This record gives sequence, C-alpha cells and structure tokens, in this order.
Amino acid sequence: MTDSGKNGLIVVAATGNPGKLREIGEITAEFGIKVISKKDAGAGDIEIEEIGSTFEENSFLKAHGVMEAAGADAIADDSGLAVDALNGAPGVYSARFAGEGASDEENNAKLLRLLVDVPDEKRTARFVCVITLCRTDGTVITAKGECRGRILRAPRGRGGFGYDPLFVPDGYDRTFAELNEEQKNIISHRAIALLNLRKKISEEKL
Ligand code: IMP
Repeated sequence: MTDSGKNGLIVVAATGNPGKLREIGEITAEFGIKVISKKDAGAGDIEIEEIGSTFEENSFLKAHGVMEAAGADAIADDSGLAVDALNGAPGVYSARFAGEGASDEENNAKLLRLLVDVPDEKRTARFVCVITLCRTDGTVITAKGECRGRILRAPRGRGGFGYDPLFVPDGYDRTFAELNEEQKNIISHRAIALLNLRKKISEEKL
C-alpha cells in the first residue's frame, strides 16, 4: 500500500473531465487509492501551462504542479494523436492543432486537409496517453498506453470526442466514435496507460 492509499488521497491534475476522473478512479480504487478532483483538493484554481514538447513532459508538469498546489500526491494524464505520415503530428498539439481554442471539427478538418494526398495504406496513426503519478515523497511513476489504427477520409459516428470520428483502431471496422464507451475503454490508449500504471504500482509493493 502506498502512502496515498493510507491517506486515501490522490488528486487528479489538470482535468475537469468527470469521465477521465471516473476512469482513473476505478483502476486506482483497486489499490485503496481514492481519486479526487483538484477542485475538491482545494487546488481548483491552478492552471498548468502545457509547455512541454512530449506527452511525458506535459503529464509530469501537470501532476507536479497540482502536487505542489494541493500538498498531496497527484496524478495527471496527457494524450493526443500521432499520425505517421505527418511525422507524429499533431502530437502534443492535438487539442490546438487548428489554433488556440479550435473546435474538434476544425482540428479534424485540418487533419483531413493535410492527409488529402496520402494513400490509404499510409494513413496509419496512434493515440498516445502518458499518465504520471507524483508523490510528495519525491517518487514519480510514469505509464504509457498506445492504440494503433488508421485515419479515414471523412468523419463517421457521433460518439466520443476529438479525433474519434476519423480513427479506426486496428482490428476494427468502426471508428472510435462508432464504438460504444465500454468498447473504447477496453482498447483505448488511456485504458492501456492505466493498466500499465496499475502494473507498476503493484510491482512496487513486491
Ligand atoms: P488531453 O490529454 O485531454 O489534453 O487531450 C489532448 C487532445 O488529444 C484532445 O483534445 C483530443 O483532440 C485528442 N485526444 C486525446 N485522447 C483522445 C481520444 O480518446 N479520442 C479523440 N481524441 C483524443
């Protein structure tokens, strides 16, 4: 059991997204670790700039910033889409690919424009998620998850968010936006990163 488990406290950094909070909390609950929002930890006002050039850096910046602000162990994720034909873009710029404050539709339209001449077999991509746990005792655990697939030529499906309507995971015919939440949560980059985090935390206790 980690210190956090004994205290029953972990803070989720830089996410106001209740879905993410629930997803992370369900896995860490197996270790007696409770996840609370940064708002509930009294650090709701803190905004951490994602100035890193990798998912690892950004998730660390968020977890470390919230750990300091809340004075408690903190967990944060950073994620995005890496397209092979674009040398890994949009990557850490996924949320603001078409500019600061861009909508999902604008980001998707830019992606389709850039890939217009790319043939089907070269439209490979992967979603990446890195989760970092920063503890007040100075220890840091980082876990990564990836989900490979390909980018369509037009959006399909109404579920999900972000690039989901353009992304068909390997082994499937439907986009992330056509799969239901339960199906996506089994294969998603975030689910895999969480499983890897669980593995690393359990190995720590051996
Ligand atoms: P963040 O990690 O919540 O900051 O997400 C960064 C951006 O990556 C999102 O705004 C989306 O554009 C994209 N992204 C991350 N995960 C997903 C996903 O599961 N589906 C679709 N887009 C995603």
